[in-house]
Amino acid sequence: MSGPGEDLAEALVRGDRRALARAITLAESSRPDHRRAAERLLSALPERDDALRLGLTGTPGAGKSTLIEALGLRLVAEGHRVAVLAIDPSSSRSGGSILGDKTRMERLARAPRAFVRPSPSGGETGGVARRTREAIRLCEAAGHDVTLVETVGVGQSEVQVAAMTDVFVLVLAPLGGDDLQGAKRGIVEEADLVLVNKADRDPEAARRAAADYAAALRLLRPRPHDPEGWPRAMAVSATSGEGLDEAWSAIRALWLWRRDTGALAERRRVQRRLWFEEELRALALSRALAAPGLREALPGLQAAVEEGRLSPAEAARRAFGS
Ligand code: GDP
Repeated sequence: MSGPGEDLAEALVRGDRRALARAITLAESSRPDHRRAAERLLSALPERDDALRLGLTGTPGAGKSTLIEALGLRLVAEGHRVAVLAIDPSSSRSGGSILGDKTRMERLARAPRAFVRPSPSGGETGGVARRTREAIRLCEAAGHDVTLVETVGVGQSEVQVAAMTDVFVLVLAPLGGDDLQGAKRGIVEEADLVLVNKADRDPEAARRAAADYAAALRLLRPRPHDPEGWPRAMAVSATSGEGLDEAWSAIRALWLWRRDTGALAERRRVQRRLWFEEELRALALSRALAAPGLREALPGLQAAVEEGRLSPAEAARRAFGS
């Protein structure tokens, strides 16, 4: 059988950038026919275990986009094909964007072996993360062997990114006011590597901060399943490039170790299961909310709850007619 989906799949695996952009747009769409086409496409694509998924988080201004661009340019120069995706937790709610509407990573975006996708705007809550997972698979099918997924440390987004990547990095700029104590505990616990950025400003202070963080991280989250010496912290400068090669070598070494020991396969298995559970919940919710009569009943129930005439739990049960 051939159809638009099949043509797109062919162009995608050939590495056609426009096909990749179209496929991601299809996956992000909420139109049922687009969603079906995206699902068919995704089902036809094999899982790759030779492509590295790197998650990055950090407060706005820590230097994430500067760092991703510098790292991405190095990787494409080495022959890698790099994709950059973003989860912007602000965009689905407010229409505004913390990651910024300005075109970011312009140089990387122009590199022939790179693909930079600005964060999707709109979409239902939680939907952005689910669609980003699909985008990762589409990028890999199109030949990208390194996918960087970026988010700001707001809400649950960093936990979501950790749950869809192989290695997770926290970017801090202590000399710009960030520190480990200021970072949310959940993020610190997920981090395999803390990059102390802007080390060019005061290299000695950055190295000291990195050493302190490394000690704190290992106390906070000892990792019996990881190799000796992890989690780590390193001083880098996104603008001068200092430390970036070492950081990449460390990330790659951890990834290879996880792959060779089977830890990566297990991590991805768990991630796919959680993803399935999320899809189930989202579908169950949207179907339940489409139940006949619900829309008409809601305003009255809501008023009764607000006025204290009905308990929220009872109102919710009545909304479904029981
Ligand atoms: P993001 O919000 O985390 O993506 O941060 P940006 O990459 O936009 O960087 C915020 C600011 O910090 C910009 O003005 C960058 O030029 C600057 N910056 C980023 N990395 C470095 C660095 O390594 N050293 C110095 N001195 N400035 C940096």
